[in-house]
Amino acid sequence: MVQHETNISKETFIRSRDVFERINYLYQLSQYWSVTNPNLAAYYAKLVISISKKSVLRLDNSIKRSICKGCHGYFVEGKTTYTIYKKEHRGQLVKTCKRCGISKRYPVTKS
Ligand SMILES: [Zn+2]
Repeated sequence: MVQHETNISKETFIRSRDVFERINYLYQLSQYWSVTNPNLAAYYAKLVISISKKSVLRLDNSIKRSICKGCHGYFVEGKTTYTIYKKEHRGQLVKTCKRCGISKRYPVTKS
């Protein structure tokens, strides 16, 4: 009984590890092409999001916030995006994409 349970958990771990490796690889490709070829970077970033949705795996906030919600472009501060700090609602960071013009607000939490 115990043996059976460990087999199941091992199997699921390996299966999700494959997906994580794929997401990691595609994310690195997106990062690599972000400055020289933004369209290719957006293509890879879109794949990252669609794979995570299909496999029901949550992406880390740092990954989610580095990909544009509108055009899936990879955010490079000062090149493909610019960030403004706003005081309203206890402080917010407003990131605006230079490719599609969509802006996203993130709360600034006290640490
Ligand atoms: Zn965009």
